[in-house]
Amino acid sequence: MFKNEKAIVVFSGGQDSTTCLFWAKKHFAEVEVVTFDYGQRHKLEIEVAAEIARDLDVEQTVLDMSLLNQLSPNALTRSDIEITQEEGQLPSTFVDGRNHLFLSFAAVMAKQKGARHIITGVCETDFSGYPDCRDVFVKSLNVTLNLAMDYEFVIHTPLMWLNKAETWALSDELGAFDYVRERTLTCYNGVIGSGCGECPACKLRQAGLDEYLTERGGAK
Ligand SMILES: [Zn+2]
Repeated sequence: MFKNEKAIVVFSGGQDSTTCLFWAKKHFAEVEVVTFDYGQRHKLEIEVAAEIARDLDVEQTVLDMSLLNQLSPNALTRSDIEITQEEGQLPSTFVDGRNHLFLSFAAVMAKQKGARHIITGVCETDFSGYPDCRDVFVKSLNVTLNLAMDYEFVIHTPLMWLNKAETWALSDELGAFDYVRERTLTCYNGVIGSGCGECPACKLRQAGLDEYLTERGGAK
């Protein structure tokens, strides 16, 4: 459907955005990625993203978003704050409006590069309380960006209605299951692949993987 067009993937080197990158490579003629450097707890996240981009032969632009630190000190960007999540509350990794800002900057970059398609791995199904990851917000922002820049952006959210197990299934469909499992970084403690097994991100990732492997049946 979009085979002849160019797309920009918002890319962190994690499971979700890497799955989106494989999805984009299947659906678009030309794909580039944009990675946001906002002083992540682990610089490794930026390195992993760069390595995957090189590996999959896509051009990567790293945008400096360190001002997020200034706006909202939190556990992802400040090593002195512990990552915690109380039942029913936002995790301490929350940065207000982060996704909103990322998508808006991605759009400015996309237009400069002649790309109207933007792909992001946000997801409402495992909604952890981030209001700017909801479908209604993404649709609203899409309209706003089109008006702001007089351009026909299309924001794609291939994971919006998938749970974590279904995201693994999608990577499998795209022939990227092993790659995503072994090469991506989701862990807050900076352990690539299956991770540290202790942090909230690892527990979520592992639970989805276990569910998918059970459904799929067979070895692994
Ligand atoms: Zn971990």
